[in-house]
Amino acid sequence: TDEVNIISGALEMRKKTVEAIMTRLEDVFMLPIDRVLDFESLSDIRKQGYSRIPIYENERGNIVSLLFTKDLMFVDPDDRIPLKTLAEFYKNTCYFIFSDTTLDVVFKEFKECKRGGHMAFVQRVNTSREDKDPYCETIGLVTLEDVIEEMIQSEIVDE
Ligand code: ADP
Repeated sequence: TDEVNIISGALEMRKKTVEAIMTRLEDVFMLPIDRVLDFESLSDIRKQGYSRIPIYENERGNIVSLLFTKDLMFVDPDDRIPLKTLAEFYKNTCYFIFSDTTLDVVFKEFKECKRGGHMAFVQRVNTSREDKDPYCETIGLVTLEDVIEEMIQSEIVDE
């Protein structure tokens, strides 16, 4: 029955972690904060088609801001605006979660907090580097879309 499917789907959500469903960092389209928004950058962004683009500083694991592509609507490539200027203007907050967070928790947090535009960066503590103390590293991102897709899938599989 539908009820059984919905309940078992909800139970699945409590077992699955964001790490299992995230988009891995190497597959994420992001931009370095020192990029200039020239014609090439803007057409690159348009080609990718994502509505949100993480912005990093120095290395891809160091995400410092988030760009909403709708905010590029009035950016003229001839002005060659530095991405940094835009990032400092909008100051969109990035939302971070640990990799072992389960999907029911993420779903609830996405529902409750609208900031961050329903995107969260997945972090874990890296203890494997002998040259460094344990540190937090970003390993991917997850959006509300990913969580909902997972919910729908588990329901379909059950049928
Ligand atoms: P969009 O609004 O850009 O289509 P969604 O939230 O609908 O993004 O997510 C669609 C899929 O794309 C999800 O699997 C999500 O993890 C992934 N995704 C979202 N933004 C990016 C990005 N900048 N680079 C790579 N993958 C992304």
